[in-house]
Amino acid sequence: MSKPTILVVEDERPLAETLVYNLSKEGYDVHLASDGQEGLRKAQSLLPDLVVLDLMLPVIEGLEVCRQLRAGNRTRTIPVLMLTARGEEVDEVVGFQVGADDYVTKPFKIKPLLQRIRALLRRKIAVDSSSGDQLQSHGIEIDRLQHRVLVDGQEARLTPTEFRLLWALLKQPGRAFSRPDLMGAGMGDDAFVLERTVDVHIKALRQKLGRHAARIETVRGVGYRFLNGPPEEAVSTD
Ligand code: CA
Repeated sequence: MSKPTILVVEDERPLAETLVYNLSKEGYDVHLASDGQEGLRKAQSLLPDLVVLDLMLPVIEGLEVCRQLRAGNRTRTIPVLMLTARGEEVDEVVGFQVGADDYVTKPFKIKPLLQRIRALLRRKIAVDSSSGDQLQSHGIEIDRLQHRVLVDGQEARLTPTEFRLLWALLKQPGRAFSRPDLMGAGMGDDAFVLERTVDVHIKALRQKLGRHAARIETVRGVGYRFLNGPPEEAVSTD
């Protein structure tokens, strides 16, 4: 397999250089952009295997870059790891509006960051190499080959992580998944993903499922389960 390509979009010079140095040392093909516009342009031309995206960027800010990546047909499935300055931004970053796959809060240590990157790349490879398959349940259709989800016939734009979570839930309806189960299914076996992150992704996924939201049921003290019945039968649990 050729070297995975990583695009780093970061304007703080010392941090950018540290990232480029360490990622290159790990064997990745690393490209750097120092503002949001350059980041978008490079992402669209390189189609990297992963983007490390700073939140606060000149010209176009990180949230907007992420939104535009998610809106582009060729860039929508590229995993995005966001670098954030504050914990409070997590909901917005990982959630519905923007759709980053993971985040780290500055200042961060390089070793856990590299582990998160490896986990995101493993997930991407798993998705890329899986054979086409489809699941459906009372108005929700999911096509793994086309990476498409239809909710009552309308396309729902899910992030790669939301997509994998929905796939795991729909594949075994009625099963109560623990948060660690879902982390494994949706985010790769990465001990560094926080359980809280699962909740944020589920919240975003529910919003995108519209009237089917309550079919992802909260199982108290455990995690979540998917109800394989029409949405009218589901009762919202939160
Ligand atoms: Ca910055």
